[in-house]
Amino acid sequence: MALAIIPQVNHSIVNEGKLFPYHANNIIYTYNNSLEEEGYKIITSKEGIVVEYAKERGKFYGQKTLEQLFLIYPHEIPEMTIHDYPQYPHRGFMIDSCRHFFSISEIKKQIEIMALVKMNVFHWHLSDDQGWRIEIKKYPKLTTQGSLRKQTRGDGKEVSGYYTQEQIKEIIEFCQERYIDVIPEIDMPGHFTAACSCYPELLCTKEKIDVAEHFGILPNIACVGRDFTYQFCCDVLDEVCDLFPSRYIHIGGDEALKLNWLTCPDCQAKMKRENLKTPEELETAFLNEIAKHIAKKGKKAICWNDGMSCETIDSKIIMQYWKDDKQHTSLAKSLVEKGYQTIISPFKHYYLDYNYGITPLKKTYNYQFPFHSQHILGVEAPIWTEYISSILRLEYLAYPRLFAVAEKGWSNRGDYDSFLARLDVFKNKLDSLGINYAPLSEVNPFFLKRWFLKLSFYFNAVDKNIINSFRLLHKYKKLK
Ligand SMILES: [Zn+2]
Repeated sequence: MALAIIPQVNHSIVNEGKLFPYHANNIIYTYNNSLEEEGYKIITSKEGIVVEYAKERGKFYGQKTLEQLFLIYPHEIPEMTIHDYPQYPHRGFMIDSCRHFFSISEIKKQIEIMALVKMNVFHWHLSDDQGWRIEIKKYPKLTTQGSLRKQTRGDGKEVSGYYTQEQIKEIIEFCQERYIDVIPEIDMPGHFTAACSCYPELLCTKEKIDVAEHFGILPNIACVGRDFTYQFCCDVLDEVCDLFPSRYIHIGGDEALKLNWLTCPDCQAKMKRENLKTPEELETAFLNEIAKHIAKKGKKAICWNDGMSCETIDSKIIMQYWKDDKQHTSLAKSLVEKGYQTIISPFKHYYLDYNYGITPLKKTYNYQFPFHSQHILGVEAPIWTEYISSILRLEYLAYPRLFAVAEKGWSNRGDYDSFLARLDVFKNKLDSLGINYAPLSEVNPFFLKRWFLKLSFYFNAVDKNIINSFRLLHKYKKLK
């Protein structure tokens, strides 16, 4: 049998019996150390409802299942035994607070929703070209200047905001109460314009630049031939490591357009000194050095898969697989086979910032991993906010697609039609929380609507700056 809950039970449900009346406040919790760390058992019978667990987080997930069961069975519940535990240990949601800023209470609301569907990782993207969002005491300019963007694509409207370390502690605590790990991301060496705008010596050219006001892949990446850059990155990460209890720190590593490195005397000197043949090898040496630094603090680095193109990349770095073209997929597959741990976040399926015309719910739900391995830690859905300026729009795009990803991470028993039917029940819960989810009538648009949505997305996103990004990428590939 299947229950009308999200995510679907992963292991087993047996002994469905007759309905009997129950009291929601009469539940017995008992310890059972034979259960899995995140697992629980729920036994419902005429005698009452019992929840067994080995760890507090298992008890929490048992409670989350009961919350949904009480919605389906408001007065009487069937006799049954549920044994449940997740398929994967990493079930994440990433929010980009850089391109647009979201308040602490807006972030908390999303975390509440993650907990409902048993997600356990909040990946927080805190630095990018268009804004630096985390207070770093040693480098105050990062927030006094780097968190402020004068305008976005010429609209004349300022975007600003950052989280103090106290506010971040508040979010960490809020997440801990829900057994959610907060993984911060400080993106480097690319997506570094906001940092460079505050400290120009981070740039190969040392020129004075502004926080980026447009999107795309920008050439203002960190100069990795200079000691100051290492000092800066390590200082920032030291504060980040002290602040976040997570074992993992995301160091970005994506979309670094290494054009300046080709002509920078400092970068060239480092390549010569260390016998590095290509800018990719230089990037790998930088990421390895940063990963080694945070390892000294007892943390592991996570890196986007396009930054892991050289064989010399540290095997302890965890790969986040987002770039899913043929070449990157085969590279990712070979790294996984070598034992690199991996988080699955394919952008064509799991990036929730694309509208429902580009990525219908069904496409997200039915995604199949391109490789299988014991080294897959789990799944994660990122939402990038270049074109999302309000939390209402963010919620509309994130839900219900995030639940499809949550179900993939928790259970291997779901199927799409049953998921749709269960969503219909689940929406009562979402309504009670005031979530602006997309109605089911809009999440799988018909053919013409899909094309209309696709075209409108690209028509809005592609401007002369995006085209310039492609031009610079092309130039780099020709020169390197
Ligand atoms: Zn340089």
